[in-house]
Amino acid sequence: IFEIKNAKKSFGKTEVLKDISVSVENGDVLAIIGPSGSGKSTLLRCATLLEKLDGGEMRYQDLQVTKNDENGNAVYADKAALKKARSYFGLVFQNFNLFPHYSVLKNIMDAPLHVQKRDKAEVQAEAAELLRKMGLSDKGDAYPYQLSGGQQQRVSIARALATNPKVLFFDEPTSALDPELTGDILKTIRSLAAERKTMVIVTHEIEFARNVADKVVFMADGVIIEEGPPEQVIGNPKNERTRMFLNKLS
Ligand code: ATP
Ligand code: MG
Repeated sequence: IFEIKNAKKSFGKTEVLKDISVSVENGDVLAIIGPSGSGKSTLLRCATLLEKLDGGEMRYQDLQVTKNDENGNAVYADKAALKKARSYFGLVFQNFNLFPHYSVLKNIMDAPLHVQKRDKAEVQAEAAELLRKMGLSDKGDAYPYQLSGGQQQRVSIARALATNPKVLFFDEPTSALDPELTGDILKTIRSLAAERKTMVIVTHEIEFARNVADKVVFMADGVIIEEGPPEQVIGNPKNERTRMFLNKLS
């Protein structure tokens, strides 16, 4: 459903992504782990079109988003194709990123109404269902500041789901949360995995990655050091770098 090949990205002289290739199959969960500064967020930001690749080929399903020209520079598809690509994914940030001046319901309904221009009654019904699923049925009229961090994060997951994306990206969805709220959010993501929602999750929660992911990618210094099923990458890593990283966490 999503594939990126030979992705390269620098900020000034710093090469942050050096030839990254990774793909996610429909219904799978891909976990991306790795030390701070290894380029995980940059990869997610490029995948979700918040940041432009310098080089590399990227596609969502049958939609080619970038191609390489003869010099290996990424050439982006036209505006219409990019707009379509944006409808293929949702994104959940570490710090929730809700609109502070919008109620919970308005946060969830905004994109379906104003970007997708869908029918209001239908969107409203879906938003109510998403809130119910997130255990927040009584919070539709609340504002983000009136909610706990865990509740805010569940709202942002509901918001990301509201456009019915084919892939959900998470950038360290629990790292701003207390341990007990972390468990809450991990449970929510786990139930989405059980529904076979396609997800790409950058996380430091190694046990979670081991239990939920179909594939784990270990990144360091802008390259993929090791990838494979969790039993291999986390359970029995081949690479010394991976082993050192996992040892430090446990
Ligand atoms: P963490 O686990 O701490 O979130 P990360 O793996 O997500 O780390 P990135 O945020 O992708 O790492 O950052 C990788 C490198 O790119 C870092 O050295 C960072 O300083 C640099 N970087 C990221 N975004 C920018 C930017 N907009 N401008 C300049 N440098 C950037
Ligand atoms: Mg990051």
